[in-house]
Amino acid sequence: MILVVGGAGYIGSHLVKELVKKEQVIVLDNLSTGHRYLVDERAVFVQGDLGNRADLDAIFEKYPIKAVMHFAANSLVGESVIKPLKYYQNNVAGTLTLLETMLKYNVKNFIFSSTAATYGIPNVEMITEDCPTNPINPDGRSKLMVEQILADFAAAYSLNYVVLRYFNAAGAHESAEIGENHNPETHLIPIVLQHLLGQREKISVFGTDYDTPDGTCIRDYIHVTDLSRAHIFALEALLDGKKKTAIYNLGNGLGYSVKEVIETCERVTGRKAVIEYTDRRPGDPARLVASSQKIYEELGWKAEYSLEDIIASAWKWHSRNVK
Ligand code: UDP
Repeated sequence: MILVVGGAGYIGSHLVKELVKKEQVIVLDNLSTGHRYLVDERAVFVQGDLGNRADLDAIFEKYPIKAVMHFAANSLVGESVIKPLKYYQNNVAGTLTLLETMLKYNVKNFIFSSTAATYGIPNVEMITEDCPTNPINPDGRSKLMVEQILADFAAAYSLNYVVLRYFNAAGAHESAEIGENHNPETHLIPIVLQHLLGQREKISVFGTDYDTPDGTCIRDYIHVTDLSRAHIFALEALLDGKKKTAIYNLGNGLGYSVKEVIETCERVTGRKAVIEYTDRRPGDPARLVASSQKIYEELGWKAEYSLEDIIASAWKWHSRNVK
């Protein structure tokens, strides 16, 4: 049985929908940002907290867990700057309690959702996993701390782990039954689509004076279905003993500016956006684009979906489900 912590969240719920086809799955989620309806009905669902020993003991005593996938960290850069305590408490202290419980029950396989924010402001075109990690906000720092804890636990307690550093996750499941539903929404693609559906008056573009060709920030957008596939590849590598420890970037290897994303949304939906140009949002690096060559070479994974595919799937979900 695989324990998916945070399996009611955006990315966790997409992974669960795929994983239930291969494994028995139990989801632990406190529903602070996730939604019960996103959890596939084939999975066992437990409402509880990863920092709560009693919640964890109840699961590990009852079910034969062979691996834990951890999606339950908070992950908004802006919020992390305003509420660092929340980020260190949940992302670091909560994860430590989860890891401590895993050791107590001799569960040694762990997959951790990390972030491109661990790199800070990289000065390379394509970020590889051996680029220096200099996070510039509590979100990135808290995830990097967990990565360091994992390395120490691997050395001392033989914990096996895969860290997956996500770039910009977006898109929705092909069924359009689940998709991105944050409240409040802060991410670019859902915000643009909500606007194009008439749910927001306009879109704000945060900064037009970055050192990029059109002055807006460049990001690497990756389909949530590609992320799910990567998690399954990582899980298989751990369970087969092919990998003991690994860190991988997950991106498309393609950078799109904020303006290009908006234009692509307009093209895919056939609608026109009202755009306002505002100041920079604090903490945004100009360009974050992944090299995902390492996971391709070691596990055979690469992104299959384009930016158009991402936006088309998100549009289908938003038009049907998000009111
Ligand atoms: N962005 C924007 N307007 C918005 C939301 C986001 O211009 O309403 C920009 C943001 O500054 C960043 C990019 O879009 O350069 C992607 O932001 P998002 O919050 O989606 O993801 P992040 O890169 O912060 O993980």
